[in-house]
Amino acid sequence: MARYHIETYGCTSNRGESREIERRLRDAGHHRTPLGEADVAILNTCTVVEKTERNMLRRAEELDDEVSDLIVTGCMALAQGEEFAEADIDAQILNWDDVPAAVTNGECPTPTPDSEPILDGVIGILPIARGCMSNCSYCITKFATGRIDSPPVEENVRKAEALVHAGAKEIRVTGQDTGVYGWDQGERTLPELLDRICDIDGEFRVRVGMANPGGIHGIREELADVFARNDKLYDFIHLPVQSGSDEVLEEMRRQHRVDKFREIVETFDSRLEHWTLSTDFIVGFPTETDADHELSMDLLREVRPEKINVTRFSKRPGTDAADMKGLGGQTKKDRSKAMSALKMDVVAEAYDELVGTRREVLVVQPGHGDSVKCRDSAYRQIVVQNASEYGIEPGDFIEVEVLSGETVYAFGKPVSSPAESEEAAAAD
Ligand code: SF4
Repeated sequence: MARYHIETYGCTSNRGESREIERRLRDAGHHRTPLGEADVAILNTCTVVEKTERNMLRRAEELDDEVSDLIVTGCMALAQGEEFAEADIDAQILNWDDVPAAVTNGECPTPTPDSEPILDGVIGILPIARGCMSNCSYCITKFATGRIDSPPVEENVRKAEALVHAGAKEIRVTGQDTGVYGWDQGERTLPELLDRICDIDGEFRVRVGMANPGGIHGIREELADVFARNDKLYDFIHLPVQSGSDEVLEEMRRQHRVDKFREIVETFDSRLEHWTLSTDFIVGFPTETDADHELSMDLLREVRPEKINVTRFSKRPGTDAADMKGLGGQTKKDRSKAMSALKMDVVAEAYDELVGTRREVLVVQPGHGDSVKCRDSAYRQIVVQNASEYGIEPGDFIEVEVLSGETVYAFGKPVSSPAESEEAAAAD
């Protein structure tokens, strides 16, 4: 669990993004600390005038000197991210949405302490279990959460029903490792749980949270069939592979090898026409050689995930990986930079392919200014501007035409009002 420091500059929207980042970090078990005690600093930037830009660069330089890991996000990062590298500042430049995953050091999220569902706007968070079946050598979360403890399917279905009745339009099924849900009860019940949640009356979508490849592999066919038959499920799966090298996976004590990961991807490819693979890579693990790093880069080029989290390895106290002789900071920086550049190319290609298509989306959250963030059936993010002019708000299902790809999201324009979309759905 990381200790983080966050600084926010600029408008109310930026502060809203920081609140969302903090909420997700808190839910994943991370702690905010004063700068002097932080493992990682997050600088949420603004770029409203030239003077602000100079201030942002100066502050980033100061933070770079004070912490081992610096993440720069916000408007200046997105619009002029290259300026930080030009100023020789060693920072990961990320979209707001990618910040929480980069802070986690490859560890799984920790469900909220009471593991009760939460309704946040139209998003319902449903923690289905706590704990995992793994013992990854770099993970500190495991010390706090232990072995998987799965409540029965019936109990989670009741919680999902309560969320839908309370107004949830997107249910996020979360857990440290959703793929091993039910293992402690002697039966792998994620497919059954998802079928049952999708059977609940109402119009809503379901997103399945992180599932380790080692847990998913044994149920991959059954699970892919569940996705194929349920329109309410976003065709999105988060499978953190962490490395393209079997030797490194062995040292990480991951429960999968690269071929198992490939087989899961192939299974989903064979069942679903348009789906999103989200994965994570840890770069600079202590035993990672140049050749291992190249294997990770090759795997990324081969499977071309639509969403990728790149985390630079950092030691967590008390873990076995913390006792390994680490790589030099420059090596980790160089590998992280190379992989982050490749990630941007791969993800941008996925969003560029959407341009010109029409997609049914759910309006999920307010965005910056008068914009809203929407998700299509494969959980790709599409931003619609001037939302109030179109009369759209979170919870609406609309059809949009995708106008442009913006690397990690796309801009779209409504081609039907919420009311027209409802009429069309009723006529189907
Ligand atoms: S699967 Fe590995 S990284 Fe995730 S919580 Fe368990 S031990 Fe930690």
